[in-house]
Amino acid sequence: MIRFTPGGISRAELARQMYLTRSAISTIIDDLKRQGLVDEIETGPTTGGRRPILLAINPRYGYIVGIDMGATHLGIVLTDFSAHVLEEIEYPFSVTDGPQSCLSQIDGYLAELLSKSKLNISQISAIGMDVPGPIVAEAGEVSSPPIMPGWDGYPIRTHLEELWQVPVTIGNDAEMGALGEWAYGAGRGESNLAYIKVGTGVGAGLLLDGHIYRGTSGCAGEIGHITIQENGPLCTCGNHGCLEAMAGGQAIARKAREAIEAGRRTQLSAISPDRIHAVNVAAQQIITDAGVHLGIAIASLVNLFNPSMVVIGGGVSQLGDLLLEPIRKTVMDRSLHSAAKVVRITSAVLGRRASSMGAVVQAINISLDHLIDV
Ligand SMILES: [Zn+2]
Repeated sequence: MIRFTPGGISRAELARQMYLTRSAISTIIDDLKRQGLVDEIETGPTTGGRRPILLAINPRYGYIVGIDMGATHLGIVLTDFSAHVLEEIEYPFSVTDGPQSCLSQIDGYLAELLSKSKLNISQISAIGMDVPGPIVAEAGEVSSPPIMPGWDGYPIRTHLEELWQVPVTIGNDAEMGALGEWAYGAGRGESNLAYIKVGTGVGAGLLLDGHIYRGTSGCAGEIGHITIQENGPLCTCGNHGCLEAMAGGQAIARKAREAIEAGRRTQLSAISPDRIHAVNVAAQQIITDAGVHLGIAIASLVNLFNPSMVVIGGGVSQLGDLLLEPIRKTVMDRSLHSAAKVVRITSAVLGRRASSMGAVVQAINISLDHLIDV
């Protein structure tokens, strides 16, 4: 509760929200203060009455690293223990290079980030990493990931823990996006939230009743492989007409190339106002179509899970309202009124950082678990 209350929280408020007595809270807080995990912070002047003492996480308690391994990009953030970003890098990346090459590239980029910050790896408390595929959480590996050829069953967490000698936690990118937006973004305080990551692939992270829902084998939320068109384009998973094959980043890029080709074949001369107008109209139509297809799948998700918020993130979501408006309209049209009227559909506040910040949340969690074990 201290971690996720921006600006700090008082002992009285903690006692009230946790149904504990003031003295029980004081005992726990004294312990956490002794360990250096919790700080008392100064509050601004109040008009009359006693100035409340607020509690916050001590940012200097440790350093945390969050790694977002996308299909085509890699982002790494370094934060303090209260999850403030101190340093950040982003590079193009290709997950199809396979585990050995990819993990060694990540090791190199992390070394670069740490040297920029004048830190070494032994000063890092924990590292969280997300990957674009279904995760077997206990094993820290991916299982049959459609857009990660060569990674099936590879022991990612063991590999990295042996390499870095630091606790590592591995998560799915959309789940980490949900966690990041819930902790520090658009979804603060929501207990039923879906985060839809629209990047090269399309996936959903589900936070239900305040907990990440992963399903029996980590496959919950694979919304990208819902069938939208029975005989549609071939998907990376082997089926036809999946959402990902119709509205994912690669599908949008393919349609854009086709539209440009078609434009070339028309009689519109090289660069005329007519040609530019035609290209713009075609581009808008491609994005609107992607929004409608996403909306159809999200309407089903809204009917199934009745969330209060759907957050749209991932690279493609940077198209903003051009993509969001057709999604909103389609969800309103196609989901049950009683579910549609309570759901807010918004873009990720953390933008491209959503997943890496979720990985930071998870890394702080395991770091605290280690603290309890001691
Ligand atoms: Zn598929």
